[in-house]
Amino acid sequence: LKYPVSDHYDGKKFFNPENPQLPGFRDSVRLIRQLKYDPWPVDLTNHHQPQLNSNPAAGQAAITFVNHATLLIELQGLNILTDPVWSERVSPFTFAGPKRKRAPGVDLEALPPIHVILVSHNHYDHTDIATLQKLSRIHAPKIIVPLGDKQLFEKHGINNVEEHDWWDTVSLSATSKITFTPSQHFSARTLWDRNRSLWGSFMIEHTGLKIYFAGDTGYSNHFRETRARLGAPDIALLPIGAYKPRWFMQVVHMDPAEAVQAHIDLEAKKSIAIHFGTFALTEESPAEAVAELSKALGERKISADDFLVLGEGETRQF
Ligand code: ZN
Ligand code: ZN
Repeated sequence: LKYPVSDHYDGKKFFNPENPQLPGFRDSVRLIRQLKYDPWPVDLTNHHQPQLNSNPAAGQAAITFVNHATLLIELQGLNILTDPVWSERVSPFTFAGPKRKRAPGVDLEALPPIHVILVSHNHYDHTDIATLQKLSRIHAPKIIVPLGDKQLFEKHGINNVEEHDWWDTVSLSATSKITFTPSQHFSARTLWDRNRSLWGSFMIEHTGLKIYFAGDTGYSNHFRETRARLGAPDIALLPIGAYKPRWFMQVVHMDPAEAVQAHIDLEAKKSIAIHFGTFALTEESPAEAVAELSKALGERKISADDFLVLGEGETRQF
């Protein structure tokens, strides 16, 4: 027994309190046999020039969408990267597995000093060891990871790693803290380590500004709970991709309509769409995800300006 038993840990494995049953091995086999990828757009070049080193004032932020779930969050005196992925493939192998379809929107070498890296869970499209090793060497950031993942990082020579349970808070200064918050997902790096480590999301609170990074997640009550416990975020980074086929993905990945519901549950002032456009992980194309988001926003009478779709490399000031 490594961690205290809780409403999401049974002494051996982590689980989702609201949806403890995940698709099983047979479902995975069926999925792999059936997967039919929609065609991706022909033009996958990046058209944006990132505006880095914005040096925002207190209560302001500059957020750059790098790709997938990787975002650069620049705050006053604090630069944060989420789930940094710059590798060519998100897979245990360098020769097989999902290959990137477009370049990262920011060159790794062009990044400003990185103080903190947030890692939501150990899937390869979120925990990219080669990238983390590089960033760790260049910037020596504090790295905040879910319970059960510290070992993996240290095994690869990545230090200054803290692992945390849901609702743990990391205090950075008198006006700056980060809380590790729940999500509905799962973890695995191999066939043998499913749910041996936790998954989650993060609430960053810095100089009066709240930014929520959802990680990878299905839709559940955790958005409302997070809002109730920590208050409404000014900006929420919410996944809209990797949702088809629904019979398999629904528990672990939101579709765009659910992402809009999460935006409403959180009472986020603004949201930014993430987790689409770089890797073909599931059946839908990024164009479909963006079109479905636009449709869902229309149905809920939410302005497209309040749930932004940024291009890779695009920076927005808040
Ligand atoms: Zn995942
Ligand atoms: Zn993912």
